[in-house]
Amino acid sequence: MLFFASCHSQNTIESGGIALSFDDRFVKEWIQLKPILNKYNAKVTFYVTQPDSLSEEDIQMLHELRKEGHEIGCHGAMHVQSMYYIWDNSLDAYMENEIFHALLVMKKQGFSPKTFAHPGGSQTWYSDRQLLKYFTLLRDVSMKYQNFLGFQYIREIENIDEIYHQRNHEQKVNALLIDVSAKLTIEDIKKGLQRATKEGSVMMLFGHKPLTKTTQNINEYGFDVQFLEQILAESAKLNLKTYTMQELNADASASK
Ligand SMILES: [Zn+2]
Repeated sequence: MLFFASCHSQNTIESGGIALSFDDRFVKEWIQLKPILNKYNAKVTFYVTQPDSLSEEDIQMLHELRKEGHEIGCHGAMHVQSMYYIWDNSLDAYMENEIFHALLVMKKQGFSPKTFAHPGGSQTWYSDRQLLKYFTLLRDVSMKYQNFLGFQYIREIENIDEIYHQRNHEQKVNALLIDVSAKLTIEDIKKGLQRATKEGSVMMLFGHKPLTKTTQNINEYGFDVQFLEQILAESAKLNLKTYTMQELNADASASK
């Protein structure tokens, strides 16, 4: 019974959930997710990169998605891996060319992104410290299969602690890649959703281009739309709410 369970809870969250995000610039494909997202009343986050090369049509579609309750987040103006870019240039150049330029362009387009997804998942503590002056939350990447010193190792989804947001004001978070290349199964997802349900956390997942049966290719940078629907159906069975990334840390404000 939920009536009594939340009284002494440390978390502000009342029940578990999932937070889905989608990266890059697949706006024409993203808009086609609308029927599925609406079917499950799912609110998600779209992380846009290189906003200055969006067409008028793309911008209108993103506004349409935002009006439906989805979040439009920032994924950089150049889509560079911060660590290498800062190494070759400087932190100032990174902030100017990757961050401020993206924010400026997006502002002109009528968006005000509050959260940021690291392109390529690359980051340093000193760039994160700068980024948190402008964003309430920074999203990094987690994968089931990881390579370390030439070895590939597999992690069980329910044990990847960093993909479960505990609603504890954590501002640096990780989402699990659901692209075809990540080789996840619905059984993996179910285990994760069960953990989120049990502990009242929010499981964070992300992908790139929506792929249908006819377009699917293991080498393509995208996820199977049917798999997304399975994920949403399984979370609906467990009464898991969907969250935008901004909602995960709704109390936070950027420090500048
Ligand atoms: Zn990206």
